[in-house]
Amino acid sequence: MKYDDLTIQKLRELSILEVAEKLGFNLKGLGDEGRRALCPYHDDQHPSLHFSKKKGIFKCFVCGAKGDLFKLVMDDRNCTFPEACEWLINEFHVVVVTNTIATPHSQGENLSDKTDKKTSVKSVSSVVPLDPTLVSRSLSVDSVFCQSAVSAGYLSQSQLRHAANRYCLGTTKDGGVIFWQIDDLQRVHSGKVMYYQPDCHRSKGHHPTWVHCLIKDQLPPDFTFQPCLFGLHLLSKTIATPHSQGENLSDRTNKKESVKSVSSVVKNPSVVCIVESEKSAVILSEKFPDFVWLSCGGLQSFKPELLAPLVNHKIVVFPDTDETGEAYKQWLAVLQQAQRQYAFKYPLRISNLLEQHASFEQKSRKIDIVDFLFEVTQKLA
Ligand SMILES: [Zn+2]
Repeated sequence: MKYDDLTIQKLRELSILEVAEKLGFNLKGLGDEGRRALCPYHDDQHPSLHFSKKKGIFKCFVCGAKGDLFKLVMDDRNCTFPEACEWLINEFHVVVVTNTIATPHSQGENLSDKTDKKTSVKSVSSVVPLDPTLVSRSLSVDSVFCQSAVSAGYLSQSQLRHAANRYCLGTTKDGGVIFWQIDDLQRVHSGKVMYYQPDCHRSKGHHPTWVHCLIKDQLPPDFTFQPCLFGLHLLSKTIATPHSQGENLSDRTNKKESVKSVSSVVKNPSVVCIVESEKSAVILSEKFPDFVWLSCGGLQSFKPELLAPLVNHKIVVFPDTDETGEAYKQWLAVLQQAQRQYAFKYPLRISNLLEQHASFEQKSRKIDIVDFLFEVTQKLA
C-alpha cells in the first residue's frame, strides 16, 4: 500500500517517544525534552541513543546513528518505508482516508480547500450565545448525577467538586444535571438536562431536554441551537470562565482553582479525548487528568463539524461498543469525513480498546469505557 504525502506528514507528527516505546525501547530520563535508551546500532553499555520529542528524531552520541521515527521503525522491524507506515497506522489506530490517495489534485483540495474553511469559520462566528449568568446561577453539585457519581464509587467527593467546577455542572429544580455546552470562545451554546438514578446510570423514563427549549421566551432574538462538544471551554485560550463572570462566585478558593485548572490544560497541543457520554468525560477527567476529556453527547450527535475547533490538537476518540461493532464503524466514518473536511495537524486516532477487550456480554450491554474500566478494577479488587 502506498500512502499519500498528507498521511505521511500526519504520521510524522506522532510522538517519537511513543513510537520507541511501542517498539520496546526501554526509555530512561524525565522531563519534557526527551529520553535515552540503549543504542541498538552499536554494542551499547549505557543508554546513549537520545530521542528528541520536540524534533521527532533520534541520535546516538557514540556511533552517530540518527534518523526520524520512520527510520527507527524501518531499522527496528527490518521493513520498508510503506511497511513502516502501515505499522504506525495500525499500532496507533490512525484514521486514514483511503480514497483521497488517488491524485495529487485531491490532496491539494484537502489541504487548502478555502470554501470548507470559510464555512466552518462562518458557522462558528455566527453562534448566538445564551446569557452566561444562566450557567453561573445553575452551578451546583446537588443533582442526582453528582451525588450518585460519589455514592456509586466513580469519584471521591473532592474529585467530584473539582470536576463539577471545571465542567460548570448545573442542577435543575427537579434534580436533573445540566451539562452546559460552552465553546472555546466561552460562548454558551446551550445546556443538556439529563436525569440519573441513584446508581449513576441514566433514568430510563426521564428523557433529556435542552435549556434553550425550557426558556423559549428568554432566548436572544436570532438564537438557533448549534451543538458543540461538551467540555470544549476547557481548551479556551482565555482564562475567564463563566464562573468568574457569575454572581455565585464569592468563593476565592474556587476561583483560583478554576483558573489554575483551565490554564493547566491550555498547553498546546493538548491531547483531546472524545467519548460518547458527558458522564464518561466528567469521570475520566479526574482519573486521567493529563488529557482533556470532551463528550459529543451520543452516537447520533457525533458530527464532523464538532471537530472543527480541534484542528491543532491531538485527537483520540473512544467509541462505546455493541455486539456488531456498529458504533465503532460509525465513529470511524465520521472521523474519515472530518479528515476530508478539515486540515488536522495531527493524525486522528480511534481507540479499539473496547472492540478488542470487552466481552460479548459487555458488548451486548453497549458498555462504555468508564464502566469497562470500573468493572475491570472491581474484578481485580
Ligand atoms: Zn550507537
